[in-house]
Amino acid sequence: MTATRIDGKAFAASVREKVTAHVATLKADHGLIPGLAVVLVGEDPASQVYVRSKGKLTQEVGMKSVEHKLGAETQEADLLSLIDALNSDETIHGILVQLPLPKHLNEDLVINAIDPTKDVDGFHISNVGLLGTGQKSMVPCTPLGCLMMLRDHHGSLSGMNAVVVGRSNIVGKPMAQLLLGDSCTVTIAHSRTKELSDVVRRADIVVAAVGRPEMVVGDWIKPGATVIDVGINRIDAGVKEDGSPKTRLVGDVDFASASEVAGAITPVPGGVGPMTIACLLANTLTACCRVNGLPEPEGLTA
Ligand code: NDP
Repeated sequence: MTATRIDGKAFAASVREKVTAHVATLKADHGLIPGLAVVLVGEDPASQVYVRSKGKLTQEVGMKSVEHKLGAETQEADLLSLIDALNSDETIHGILVQLPLPKHLNEDLVINAIDPTKDVDGFHISNVGLLGTGQKSMVPCTPLGCLMMLRDHHGSLSGMNAVVVGRSNIVGKPMAQLLLGDSCTVTIAHSRTKELSDVVRRADIVVAAVGRPEMVVGDWIKPGATVIDVGINRIDAGVKEDGSPKTRLVGDVDFASASEVAGAITPVPGGVGPMTIACLLANTLTACCRVNGLPEPEGLTA
């Protein structure tokens, strides 16, 4: 069996199209322009790339994009007063503080200083609580993207057995909550889980969010299952012609063996990754609609 490839890149483009159309309507009918502020502290190269690409795509869908780049030595009080100012800025509907923060800054304190209605990453403790109790919240972007792809592929997820491998606050736990919200029977696996391969083999839906290159292999997958690979791992891939080291991106799933058994699978790259940024834009739009008492965009929220 060769699995259907779930094309996250194409799906993300269709999400951005929907966002673009809705933003144009907001502008025409209500004179509103959703605004996203991204705060980057320090010079982490990967974070700089993410922030640049978020800013570019925000503008492409017609939203206002604001970037605040602060030095690595920024004091907590200064960061908190910037967040305060963004909280009160009516042209800003979404605030994202790029993680990780430098070690001297308290991430929980900083995230919980964001107005929860503008917390487009969905990491504020209020949003975590709202999601956990099945109430309307801002939902973390990566799990939201996974949920959208699963709903698109299956229609209803009700009654399916889902196994989420990984229990982080940003992916594993919210993913499990979302699947529970769609009436899956959910198991959360982690580094202490016994007989992990047997646990995964029971799943109709596998979400791998571990951070271990190609850990989930075809032999662990139930025939016909849907596999969502969240992992982004850079591994050695020999040397280039000029003798410098070559790397390539792989997920937490061994794509070659898993796609022989699964019914559907997301690739890496081109799967969950593009959906994460698309969902950030969707969340910013949702936040703008909510704060203005307007109907939310259909199909772009949990
Ligand atoms: P974390 O490191 O925060 O969490 C990893 C989880 O995997 C932990 O719960 C850990 O268990 C579990 N784990 C580690 N080793 C094993 C193992 N051998 N068997 C079973 N479980 C294990 O990672 P994140 O959740 O932040 O990210 C996971 C992956 O997703 C990474 O590759 C990351 O780069 C990627 N990612 C991709 C995004 C995207 O946009 N596509 C966005 C965010 C992340 P325990 O709790 O017991 O330690």
